[in-house]
Amino acid sequence: MIDYIIVGYGIAGLSFAFKLIKEKKDFVIIDKPETNSTFQSGAVLNPTILKRYTISWKGSDFLKFAKKFYVEFENEYNVKVFDKIMIHRYFSRKQEQNDWIVASGLKSLENYLDHQVINEGNYPILLKNGYGIVKNTAKIYPKLLLDTFKFNLTKNNFINKKFDYKKLEIFKQYVKYGNFKSKKIVFCEGVGIKNNIFFNYLPIESLKGEYLIIKSPKLSSNYILKSSIYIIPLEKKFFWVGSTYDFNDKSLKKTKKGYNFLLSKLNSFISVPFEVIDHKIGFRPVVKDRRPILGRHPKYENLILYNGLGTRGLMLAPLLSKWLYEYTSDNKEFYKEISINRYKELYKN
Ligand SMILES: Cc1cc2nc3c(=O)[nH]c(=O)nc-3n(C[C@H](O)[C@H](O)[C@H](O)COP(=O)(O)OP(=O)(O)OC[C@H]3O[C@@H](n4cnc5c(N)ncnc54)[C@H](O)[C@@H]3O)c2cc1C
Repeated sequence: MIDYIIVGYGIAGLSFAFKLIKEKKDFVIIDKPETNSTFQSGAVLNPTILKRYTISWKGSDFLKFAKKFYVEFENEYNVKVFDKIMIHRYFSRKQEQNDWIVASGLKSLENYLDHQVINEGNYPILLKNGYGIVKNTAKIYPKLLLDTFKFNLTKNNFINKKFDYKKLEIFKQYVKYGNFKSKKIVFCEGVGIKNNIFFNYLPIESLKGEYLIIKSPKLSSNYILKSSIYIIPLEKKFFWVGSTYDFNDKSLKKTKKGYNFLLSKLNSFISVPFEVIDHKIGFRPVVKDRRPILGRHPKYENLILYNGLGTRGLMLAPLLSKWLYEYTSDNKEFYKEISINRYKELYKN
């Protein structure tokens, strides 16, 4: 008998499996990468909400732990998946300068928003209302992260197949799936949860995001640019540009509307030439109250959910995985704000 089956290999599945390796537990990951959000992610680690100048729930704790996690990952596998990088937040109106100055004086934001507003024009930016610097932020290289971890697993640890929920047999002390007998099963399927017959009563929706990959030799790779969109440096003068937010469109297609929106934002933001290399989509698993959902199934104790990572999954997952592990192995409770119990009235037996 193994300790855990993990369904889904995005940042939730990866970071939970990484924790299991540290704890010397046996596991198998079952994944079919149809809607992998982690792979599509802008992958910025930023605890601030720059639209409202606030900090996300427990943002500093998540950020601190995530940085430690990615550095540990780098040391373990001798690979570079993490870069410290600042964000230049450009203002579209002069009024935003005042909002910034007020926010940078708040205790919760003082580690992130540099109090200085920079007013001089900055080539190649078209917006003329200055900018502020967000400090202590970072970015991840998600493809390299996923590929590296998978490469280092043994063949027995990873099954590249769609999980068939109807084939799961549930017993009091364990579950059975094909040849696997496991003490517990953890579902980390991101937006794939809609097909999960045990947990699809939960209010987790898919939030579509379209983004572009551009090439622009004259754009700096030393910082992330942010106005109403992000411009995030990748390698070799490629940049991730996004994204849109659409709850209504559930199709896997990229749209002309999304493309035009991103292009017009880009053209009003920078003045240097760029070439659009690709146009892509992804879906974020978002909960009604914008908090992750973790915990045991209301009826079957050994079925565990780990989902709802929303728009900041790369930052949240490392600490959530630690909490979830302690909960499943030592019954240690975590914050009620992220517990599955907050939606127990939605479960119809
Ligand atoms: C456009 C965009 C930009 C983003 N930018 C950022 C950002 O800058 N910073 C940040 O922190 N976060 C960002 N996010 C959010 C972040 O990517 C997500 O919160 C996170 O990746 C969710 O991870 P996950 O492991 O829960 O799901 P996923 O990464 O989606 O992984 C789930 C996996 O399970 C598989 N699966 C599902 N059902 C089954 C099944 N039945 N059988 C087998 N496999 C199955 C899926 O195919 C997938 O491979 C962004 C997301 C998008 C879409």
